[in-house]
Amino acid sequence: MTGSLDEHERTMAFAEVALGQIKALRQTAVPRNYEIWYVYATGYNPALNKIINETLSRNGQLSEADLDQIYETYLSQFKASERIDKVGSCVIHEIDDVMVLITDVLGISANFGNNLEGASQKLVAAKSLEQVRSVVEMLLTSTHEMRETNKVLEQRLTRSRQEIGNLQQNLEAIRAESLTDPLTGLGNRKSFDRAIETAVEHTRENGQPLSLLMIDIDHFKSFNDNFGHLTGDQVLRLVAMALKHSVKGQDITARYGGEEFAVILPNTALRQALTVADNVRRSVMSKQLKKKSTGEILGRVTISAGVSMLQPGDSAHSLIDRADACLYAAKRNGRNRVICEVDPEFVPNSQIHVA
Ligand code: GH3
Ligand code: MG
Ligand code: MG
Repeated sequence: MTGSLDEHERTMAFAEVALGQIKALRQTAVPRNYEIWYVYATGYNPALNKIINETLSRNGQLSEADLDQIYETYLSQFKASERIDKVGSCVIHEIDDVMVLITDVLGISANFGNNLEGASQKLVAAKSLEQVRSVVEMLLTSTHEMRETNKVLEQRLTRSRQEIGNLQQNLEAIRAESLTDPLTGLGNRKSFDRAIETAVEHTRENGQPLSLLMIDIDHFKSFNDNFGHLTGDQVLRLVAMALKHSVKGQDITARYGGEEFAVILPNTALRQALTVADNVRRSVMSKQLKKKSTGEILGRVTISAGVSMLQPGDSAHSLIDRADACLYAAKRNGRNRVICEVDPEFVPNSQIHVA
C-alpha cells in the first residue's frame, strides 16, 4: 500500500511539473505535449531535457515544429515496440525489392539462355561469313546486356547488404535499450534476472566462486520527502555512478528495484565481494550532495549491503534470498554497513517470523 501511495505521489509530482510547464509556455495540453513535459520532469531522458533547455534558452519558447521534432526524435523513437515494427517493415521491404529484382534477372537470364541456344543453331546452319558475323554480333549484344544486368544486381545486393547491416544495428540498439534502466544507465531488472541465471549456470560448469551483492539506499524515503523526487533521482544516479566506478571487468551491475541495486561478481569469493561492497559503501558516503539548481548542500546518503556466495545446491533464487536477508540484517543493525552470510548478524529469511 505504502509503495503504491509513494508511486501516486511521485507521479503526481511529475504531472504537476508537466502541466505547470504547459501553462507557463501557453502550449496546448494535448497528450503529445504532456508526454514531452512529463518525461522532462522525470529526467529519465537526459538528451530530451538538454534539447529542451537549449531551445528555451535560445528562443524562450518551443514552437509546434520544435515540439514535433523533439517528440519524433526523443520519444516516439524510444518506443521499442514501434521501432521493432519499423525495422521489421524495412526488412520486409528490402526482401520484397530484392525478390522483384531477382525475378527480373531470372527472366533476363532465361532469355539469354534462349539466345545462346538460338545462336548455336544459327551458327550450325550458317552458310556465309555474313551470317556468322550477324550471329556473333547478336551474341555480343546479348552478353553485354547480361553483364549490365549482373552489374545492376550486384550493386543492388551490395546496397541491400548495407541496409540489412544497419537494420541489425538498429535491432541491437533496441535490444540493449530494453535491458537498460533509463534513469541510471545500469542494467534493469530484466537484465539482472537473465544475468544471474547465466552466472549461476557458468559457475556450475567452471567451478569458480560466484558472489552477489544486494544494496539498498538508507532512509531514502525521508530523503525524497525532504528534498523532492527529482533530487531523489539524482541520488539514484549518484549511487549508480559509485557502483560503476567500484566494479569492473565481468562484474554486472543492475538496478534491482526502486532504490535497490544488485551486483553479480563472477569468479569472486565472499571475502573479495565484501571488499567490493565496502568500497561502494565508502564511495557513496564520501560524497557531499548538492542540489544542482540551487547549490544547496543536502548532506550525505549511505547504503546498506548484503553479500552471499553461491553454495552447492543453491539456485539463483536462494542466492538472492540470502543476500537479501544479509541486507536486512545490515538494516536491523544500524544501516551504513555490509553484512555477509557468515557474519553472526545474518539470520536466514526462513528464520524470520512475522508476528
Ligand atoms: P531503509 O533505510 O529501511 O531502506 O529506508 P528507505 O526509506 O530507504 O526505504 P523505503 O522502502 O521505506 O523507501 C524507499 C523509497 O524509495 C520509497 C520511494 O519513494 C523511493 N523510490 C523508489 N523508486 C524511486 C525512484 O525511481 N525515484 C525516486 N526519487 N524515489 C524512488
Ligand atoms: Mg528498499
Ligand atoms: Mg532504502
